[in-house]
Amino acid sequence: MKEYCIYLRKSRADAEAEARGEGETLSRHRNMLMELAKKQELNIVRIYKEIVSGDSIAVRPQMQALLADVTDKKYAGVLVVEIERLARGDTIDQGVVAQAFRDSSTKIITPTKTYDPDNEFDEEYFEFSLFMSRREYKTIKRRMQAGRLASVREGNYIGTTAPYGYRKINPEPKVHTLEIFPKEAETVRLIYSMYLDGHGAKFIASELNRMGISPRKSPYWEPPSIKKILANPVYCGKVGWKTKSNGDTLYKGLHAPIISEEIFESVQNKKKTAPAAQLHTNHVLRNYYNHILYCRNCGHQLKRRYIANSGHEHMLCVYRECHGKTVSSDTEAVDEAVMAALRYRLNSFKRLKWNGSTDEREQPDKKALIAAELERSKHQLSRLYDLLEQEVYDINTFIERSGIVNERISALEASIKELEKEEKTPQLSIDEAAVRLQYIIDKFRSSDAVEKNRLLHAAVRKIWYTKTQRMSRSKSDSDLSLSVEFL
Ligand SMILES: [Zn+2]
Repeated sequence: MKEYCIYLRKSRADAEAEARGEGETLSRHRNMLMELAKKQELNIVRIYKEIVSGDSIAVRPQMQALLADVTDKKYAGVLVVEIERLARGDTIDQGVVAQAFRDSSTKIITPTKTYDPDNEFDEEYFEFSLFMSRREYKTIKRRMQAGRLASVREGNYIGTTAPYGYRKINPEPKVHTLEIFPKEAETVRLIYSMYLDGHGAKFIASELNRMGISPRKSPYWEPPSIKKILANPVYCGKVGWKTKSNGDTLYKGLHAPIISEEIFESVQNKKKTAPAAQLHTNHVLRNYYNHILYCRNCGHQLKRRYIANSGHEHMLCVYRECHGKTVSSDTEAVDEAVMAALRYRLNSFKRLKWNGSTDEREQPDKKALIAAELERSKHQLSRLYDLLEQEVYDINTFIERSGIVNERISALEASIKELEKEEKTPQLSIDEAAVRLQYIIDKFRSSDAVEKNRLLHAAVRKIWYTKTQRMSRSKSDSDLSLSVEFL
């Protein structure tokens, strides 16, 4: 279940109102926001209550804690009575807050409006509320943009990282440019010439992987990075930026080009006319674990790759969050482990038969039991809100208790979904299932990729892959482990 928090802070006007005897502001705000959470069914796990007054983040310890947690992507959203409670004061603070929410895609939820930084229109509104009162910010921004524009007009490269093929250099003060990194530049030229030879991004990526050439930050090329390289005018010596309204604004850069302007232009023209199908040069299914093998760490599907320096096909997780956490395996080793799991399952069926047991897999109406439990938990949650409103519970007790109940609700909802999936596929009898498993085990090795994939789908819903340690000469065993969800 997604988690939310509340941030409470008095404004100067609130403090003055309190001095006139208008009651305690923060608990009133807290009740207002808890009411909002109840209505929108938001799971509140923490309340940040600022007791010190002061505008800048530096003197607001709760705000600092909140920002650190928002940056860590702890919350789906933060509830405040109005957006200005988050930042008022000097412009740098407002920038820091806006950036933290934007970078972590954290929503800001107020009683009148929910601000979603992922929604472009909303972001404008967010910046509007936060910044428009501060004229200096606009002036600074305009001055900064003017400075950047002047710098680009002079041919400087002002991006934060150098594109593949280049390194950033700063040969004299105020000159920011690029120098060619020969080994990578060669790959860039290869990418452009392969594209002009009629190959798509997908083909180019797999060719480079086959050749053992890696991009800068990940071990394997993916088609989107190839497309990016094919579209970047830096490679023909230009600097500038894309604008929404007038297309590209480009200037001649101070850096040396890697490819000629003619080649760059002909690639851009070819892209406009090339059919999209070019990206799929190979329609034949080669990864027979397609829609079967998933990474336990991140949940994504594993990909099949030819690894040049091992001479083998590997199954690996290409996602950044798994870099260094999930390690690839030889496809052979995965095949062996899968067949072992199927054989184990088959043997356990045979054992059941010998013992004359009935089908253990048949269960009473599990779903009804779970649904009843879910109903009870939901009722309990609304009861907790009542206890809070009646002030039987203080806010910390409420958060602690509701956290436990919310967790249980999520788990129960997940089990119901899982059961519903099972219901859709009628279960085979043990005999039928055993015959089918035997057939798959016998046929698997000699089948082609399409047939292998079909065989796997006939027995297995999903296979979860875990492997965290690289093989080395000193280690004889791999820590590859699979957890198989059978149909
Ligand atoms: Zn992964």
